[in-house]
Amino acid sequence: MKKSGNTEKATSRKVRRRKETVREREVRAAAIVNRLGELFPVAECALVHHSAFQLLVATILSAQCTDERVNQATPELFRRYPDAAALAGSRQEDVEMLVKSLGFFRNKATNIRGMAQELVEHYQGEVPQDLDALVKLPGVGRKTASVVLGTWFGIPSGIVVDTHVRRLTNLLGLVTSENPEIIERQLMTVIPRDEWINFSHRLIHHGRRTCIARRPKCAECGLVALCHRVGLPPLPE
Ligand code: SF4
Repeated sequence: MKKSGNTEKATSRKVRRRKETVREREVRAAAIVNRLGELFPVAECALVHHSAFQLLVATILSAQCTDERVNQATPELFRRYPDAAALAGSRQEDVEMLVKSLGFFRNKATNIRGMAQELVEHYQGEVPQDLDALVKLPGVGRKTASVVLGTWFGIPSGIVVDTHVRRLTNLLGLVTSENPEIIERQLMTVIPRDEWINFSHRLIHHGRRTCIARRPKCAECGLVALCHRVGLPPLPE
C-alpha cells in the first residue's frame, strides 16, 4: 500500500544511526560529563537545605512534586522544626498544614515525623551515613538515600534518577529504558563513580534551563554535538 505523504515525510526525517559500541558510549559519556562540568561548574542540589536532616526531609517531600514547590514550603517547616528532635515532637496536624501544598501531604507528614522519631530513637538525632540504615527510615527509598549520601556526605552510592535525569539520558542516547532502576544500572556502567553525584545535579539544572520537557532548546544547547537527540526530528541545516 502506498504510504501517505505525511508518513513518507516522517520516515524520511528519521535519523538512522549506526549502533554505538560500548567503548564509543563510554567515550561519549565521559565527554558529556566534562561538558556538563563546563556548563555548570557549581553542581548544587536544587533542594534548599542547611543540614543532612533538612536535605533528608526536603528529599522525602519532593516525591511526586517539583523542587521549587518544596523550596517554597520548607523555610517555614525548618524554622519551626530545625532538627530531628523538634520534628519528632511535632503534632501531625501542624506538619500537615505546612506541607499541604506538596500533594500526598498526610503521608509525607507521617513519613517525615516518623523518620525524625527514628533518628532520635536510634541515631542520637543524626542522619546515618549508611545506605542500609537510611532505607529503613520511613519514606526513604534508595533514591532519597542516594541524594543524601551523595550530596551531603559526598558518598556516591548510586546515580539519582529523577524525571529530568530519566528524560535527558534517554534523549542523549546514554540509556534505553524508562525504568529508573534500569537507567541507574546502565548509567553506572558508563559514568565514572566519582562523577555520579554531580552528574545528576548538573543534568537536572540542564533539564530546567535548556533541555526543557517538550521544548528542548537544541539549537542553543551546549551538549548538542554529543547528544543523539533520540526521538527528536533532525535540526534544520
Ligand atoms: S541537544 Fe537537545 S535533546 Fe540533546 S540535551 Fe541538548 S536540548 Fe536536550
